[in-house]
Amino acid sequence: MAIDSRRDFRAKNNMNPVRVEHKLALNKYEVDREAHIRLKEEICRECELRACLYVCPAECYKLREGKVSYNYEGCLECGSCQISCGKGAIEWSYPRGGFGISFEYG
Ligand code: SF4
Repeated sequence: MAIDSRRDFRAKNNMNPVRVEHKLALNKYEVDREAHIRLKEEICRECELRACLYVCPAECYKLREGKVSYNYEGCLECGSCQISCGKGAIEWSYPRGGFGISFEYG
């Protein structure tokens, strides 16, 4: 008896792989006008590692024209960015009560 590849097994059993982007789309956000993330640009500017660009699972940090920009609206509230920033350029706190992400596992 032949052993099916993972792809064959999924196709045979009508199982589609679930992508992270699809899971994230199930979450609900109540966006506060007040940002819960602040970037100290004068410190950030001097950083060469820029770990925030790589650790954020929601890709909230982007490099644009050599400068880190971010959005707080899609934040998953994991806190990884603040921990990874060895320079202390990121000020992070949980959003105010009633705001932020509501996880939906579907
Ligand atoms: Fe991204 Fe997590 Fe930082 Fe939110 S707390 S911006 S999800 S790394």
